[in-house]
Amino acid sequence: MPSDPGTGSKPDDTSPTPRIIPRQNHPISRKNIDREALKVLYRLRDAGYVAYLVGGGVRDLYLGKTPKDFDISTDAKPGELRRVFKNSRLIGKRFRLVQVFFHGNKIIEVSTFRCRSEYDLNGDGSAKDEMLAANNTYGSPSDDAFRRDLTINSLFYDIKSNSIIDYTGGVSDLEQGIIRFIGEPERRIQRDPARMMRVIRHAARNNFTIEPTTWQAILKHKEKLKLCPISRIRDELMKDLRSSASRAWTELALESDLFTVLLPFYAPIAIHSDNEKTRRLLLALQAVVDRLHSRGMKLPEQLLFSLLILPWAIAEYDLLERNYKGPEFHRFLRKIRDRLEEILGPMSIKRSTKENIAMHLVTLPQFIRFAKENNWPKWLKRKSYYRECDLFFRIFLEATGGSRIPEHIITESSRQFTIDAKHRPARKRKFKKRESPGPAFLHNKRGSIFGLKK
Ligand code: ATP
Ligand code: MG
Repeated sequence: MPSDPGTGSKPDDTSPTPRIIPRQNHPISRKNIDREALKVLYRLRDAGYVAYLVGGGVRDLYLGKTPKDFDISTDAKPGELRRVFKNSRLIGKRFRLVQVFFHGNKIIEVSTFRCRSEYDLNGDGSAKDEMLAANNTYGSPSDDAFRRDLTINSLFYDIKSNSIIDYTGGVSDLEQGIIRFIGEPERRIQRDPARMMRVIRHAARNNFTIEPTTWQAILKHKEKLKLCPISRIRDELMKDLRSSASRAWTELALESDLFTVLLPFYAPIAIHSDNEKTRRLLLALQAVVDRLHSRGMKLPEQLLFSLLILPWAIAEYDLLERNYKGPEFHRFLRKIRDRLEEILGPMSIKRSTKENIAMHLVTLPQFIRFAKENNWPKWLKRKSYYRECDLFFRIFLEATGGSRIPEHIITESSRQFTIDAKHRPARKRKFKKRESPGPAFLHNKRGSIFGLKK
């Protein structure tokens, strides 16, 4: 058995025997498997290869949920896969995998069983991007199960027998609602610290408990998260904020303190226990975010960041009392913008995003006043920042016990965000061609964000 440092520990030197759960003893039915994924599985089986549905797809089907994607693993090598599937292409930087194309831009990803995870750091702590030699990559089905992150993510559904193949105890953990690292937790974290985020993600999404050695390893190694490339961490964070379980995620992130590793500017506010007000607001805002996401809305990244930052801004700046007008408003906007530059700098967030976040925060006290006086100025609705700032205010209002966001606002905002997301690249090109007044928030430039003139 290959003893690759990236794999989870295995009990002994012989190939481990998996637990096989026959069809009559598990809840996964073929009728819940995506049609195209089934086609790929059948084609591989008929060509004489081993073909398993793997990873999150098996986990979610077992739990009666609809999987986001259906990944397939096989003993066929990438070259062989290309011959079996004419409508396919090879992708992958470190590991080759094959994408099979179907009508309607549908893609099913097929990978050859392998013995290490894509993100495993090398012995020197770096994660090199170079292609790994085939003999350093491929493995047996058991290697492929043990290189995965969590027991519940390592199950295989075998299309030949319709049984589940379980090398790591994943079925028992699914049954008991336990999140557990495969192998030795500290080692698995050192190899890929982002796995800590995966632990709290799956615990939050499924309301599972985290097994004690997995939890202790996270508490001990939380700072190692900083070793991961920031772009990956930001993407992982976005996934969690959009998961519809972001309130539960925030609770676990606070409890494990991964929250202040991710967002260190919260550290001085002592959100875990003493500052109950900040913590409560943080959780209440995320509960509203979850409600909106479960209604199908996809909140833009900048709004999600603003909501994450708001409790900090209230604690730090007494934000709700800062109802400024005219030059004072702009001075405060500049101050917040500069501070965001500082605290969000390490997150490598686009400047325009930070500018919009500043705008959401600084206009909040104004919106609160307009609502209180029931006096909405006519010019406000014409502003390009109106829709987002209005939704930001309404989320705040709902989170703090005010009225729920009306249905028509949810429907209209969902529609608008979908349109915005579709048109984003085109808008960017158009903007570049125009003569730009320059970034709105540079001290020495005149300009605007959201069309708000200084
Ligand atoms: P989701 O529902 O969010 O897609 P998922 O478990 O399918 O959840 P993916 O990121 O799609 O998550 O990963 C697919 C599978 O790859 C996982 O189920 C797991 O088996 C494996 N995997 C993902 N990330 C890692 C990692 N960092 N280390 C080891 N295995 C991983
Ligand atoms: Mg997945």
